[in-house]
Amino acid sequence: MSETERPSLSLGENTRLVRAGYDPFDHHGFINPPVVHASTVLFPDAETMAKHDQKYTYATRGTPTSDALTDAINELEGATGTVLVPSGLAAVTVALLAYLSPGDHALIVDSVYGNVRHFCDTMLVRFGVQVEYYNPAIGSEIEKMFRPNTRLVHLEAPGSNTFEMQDVPAIVAVARRHEAVVTMDNTWATPLFFKPLDFGVDVSIQASTKYPAGHADILLGSISANERTWKRLKQANGALGFCAAPDDIYQVLRGLRTMGVRLERHQSSALAIAEWLEAQAEVEQVLYPALPSFAGHSLWARDFKGASGVLSFVLSTAGEKSARRKSHAFLDGLRLFGLGYSWGGFQSLALEVDLSDRTVLANSYGGLLIRLQVGLEDVKDLINDLKRAFEAAKGA
Ligand SMILES: *Cc1c(COP(=O)(O)O)cnc(C)c1O
Repeated sequence: MSETERPSLSLGENTRLVRAGYDPFDHHGFINPPVVHASTVLFPDAETMAKHDQKYTYATRGTPTSDALTDAINELEGATGTVLVPSGLAAVTVALLAYLSPGDHALIVDSVYGNVRHFCDTMLVRFGVQVEYYNPAIGSEIEKMFRPNTRLVHLEAPGSNTFEMQDVPAIVAVARRHEAVVTMDNTWATPLFFKPLDFGVDVSIQASTKYPAGHADILLGSISANERTWKRLKQANGALGFCAAPDDIYQVLRGLRTMGVRLERHQSSALAIAEWLEAQAEVEQVLYPALPSFAGHSLWARDFKGASGVLSFVLSTAGEKSARRKSHAFLDGLRLFGLGYSWGGFQSLALEVDLSDRTVLANSYGGLLIRLQVGLEDVKDLINDLKRAFEAAKGA
C-alpha cells in the first residue's frame, strides 16, 4: 500500500482495524507506531516558532502517537476529528462542557451512566445549566420536552445496566429541527456494532477503557465529532487541557487491532449465556438487546450490527430482605466471574446493579438485577460457574 492510499470503504471492518490510523512507512516500516513521550517540541528557528509553522508544536496539541489513534478512530467513526481524554467519564463531561453554557437546557437519558448523572446534577447545575432526564423509550415524543433554550440531547443506547434501546434517528430528527447538538455514549456497541455519526448523531463518545483497551489495565476516553461540531470540541478540550498519556494511547491502538475478533467472542458467549439464563427458574427476565424477548430488540435489530458482552438479569426473589441475601449468595458463589466494576476486558465480571439514582424509570423489575460482563473464557465453564452460583443462592 502506498503512503497516501488509505483503506477504502469497501474493506471489511477487521481489515480496517488492522491498518487504520497509521502507515508503517511513515516510521521506517515498523508495524507499530513509536510511543512519543513528550512535552516540548523544538523549532528549527525563531520564524518557524513565531508562525507555529510545523506539524507538532507542543505535546498537549498532539503527537505522532496520539495522531495514530485519533486517525484510526476517525476512520472507524466516520468523524471529522477525535479528542482523547484520560477516562471514559472525562470523555462525556468534556463533550457536555464543550456545547453547554449557563442558561442552556440539556436533555439527558434517564438510563445514563451513573457517574455522568452525578456530573450533571452537581457541576452542570452549579454552572447554571438546566438538566432534565427523559425516558429512553420516548422517540420523537421528545419534541414535547424541548424548550427554546434546549441546546443538547445526550443519548446512551443501550442504557447502562438495563440496556434500554433508543430510537436514535427519531431523536436526531427532532434535535436537528431545534438546532440542538446530539451527543451519544456508544461504549457498549463500539463503532463496530453501531456508528452514531452515520445516524445523524453529532458527537460519538467511547470509554476506550472498555473494549478498545480490552485488558482491564487502561483508562482512556475518546470523543469524535462530525464536521459541524468538531471545532467547538477541539477548542473546548484545548481550553481545558486534558491529554491522554502516550503509553495508554499506544495500548488502546494495540487493543483496537484485535477488537473485532474479541467482540465476536464476547457476542457469541453473551448470547449463549443470555439464552441459557432465560431458561432458568431463578431468572425472571434477561435484559440483553440481542434477545427477541427483550423490549428494545426490534430497534436493536433495525440499527445495530451486533451485541457486545454485557447484560443483566433479574433474580427472582420472594421478598425484599431475602433478595439482598440471595443476590450476595449468588455473587459469592461465583468462581470465574470476578466481582468488580467496569467491563470490556478478557475476564468475566459480575455485580449487583444499583438503580436508586433513576428519576424517570422506576425500578419495576420485581427483583434485584445482576449485571454480567461476559469475558473470553470458554462459555461452558462460565455457564457451569453460573449454575454453581444459582445453587449457592438457593439455600440463602
Ligand atoms: C465505563 C463507562 C464510562 C466511563 O468510563 P471510565 O473510563 O471507566 O471512566 C462511560 N460510559 C459508559 C457507558 C461506561 O460503561
